[in-house]
Amino acid sequence: MSSTDEALFQFIDIERLEVPNAEELINRDHLTDLFNRISREAYLASDTIIKLYLCATYNKFSIITRLKNKTEDVCYIIYDAYLVRVFRELNALYFFEDSTSSDVWKMSYRLTAEREKLRRNDTLASYAILNCYALGESDTKCEQDSSENDFFCHIQEFYILAHEIGHARLMNYGSEKPTHDMQEALASIFSYWVDNSLDADEVSLSRRAEEEISNNKSITEECICDAFAIMCVLKYVESDFSKTTDKKMLAFEAVYVCLMHIQLLSMHELGPLDVEELEITNSIRNQFFFDYVLGTLAPNEKPVFEKMIAACAEKYDQQILEEFLDALITLEGRLVNLSESVVECSM
Ligand SMILES: [Zn+2]
Repeated sequence: MSSTDEALFQFIDIERLEVPNAEELINRDHLTDLFNRISREAYLASDTIIKLYLCATYNKFSIITRLKNKTEDVCYIIYDAYLVRVFRELNALYFFEDSTSSDVWKMSYRLTAEREKLRRNDTLASYAILNCYALGESDTKCEQDSSENDFFCHIQEFYILAHEIGHARLMNYGSEKPTHDMQEALASIFSYWVDNSLDADEVSLSRRAEEEISNNKSITEECICDAFAIMCVLKYVESDFSKTTDKKMLAFEAVYVCLMHIQLLSMHELGPLDVEELEITNSIRNQFFFDYVLGTLAPNEKPVFEKMIAACAEKYDQQILEEFLDALITLEGRLVNLSESVVECSM
């Protein structure tokens, strides 16, 4: 084991909390295979060292980190397989045809228990997990292993891995990062809306987006990595599944739902007070995804895609987001009450 490997293991030990059945969630051969395949697409310089580290932790989000010492310079992708396990449950809510209310609450309690466990708040974590169990069996379990959900998870996993390799690719560019051109391209999407929209809310959102793009380089980088990941997904679907419009649309739906899941989990992580802050970065990524994919499609596919995205956004709001935001606000209030009572009791 090299000294950078050792440093990485220590970092993971301190920063991340493994889930109990971690090994079962990590399909090592499959993920390594995908990693090799995407790395080839990235055309990395031959001296670039990227290592894949697989884990399954309550932290959920994959990250990329570069460790350098006198003899080594390694870029590590820490891929967290637990995220797609959570996505499988969220996808089930999305596919379910009936009311998802009880399951959204169940999920909100579980995610809260996991977040509080990471914050070492054992009382709040216990409260949340007991409430999760008290809600009984999940109504949407039947959707968890459907072939449609399998396909969604497969594409979402591929997308996340490709997005992270996209970051590694940018690290590789060093000071020649192609952020400037991209920043201009992104800003032009929103200046178009400022000039052409009659809706005052849309104009103000587009103005804020333009500002954010010029002040915040990381959002540009996220979009560059999204573009790379979209391109990889498209190639993957066409070579391993089918070139039909239906299959491509299903893959794009899986990616769009994946972006929504990421936004939902980030919202939960930050708490209801910071949700507004997120709104702007989310709309930049969503709008970019929409425009970028549209650019890759044949003229007859464009209207199919537009219709699919509109239906998908509506379904997501209805099946997951609205109820989840309600649960999030109510739950945060209860956690505050509980924390205060615990402090009073212990005085
Ligand atoms: Zn990213």
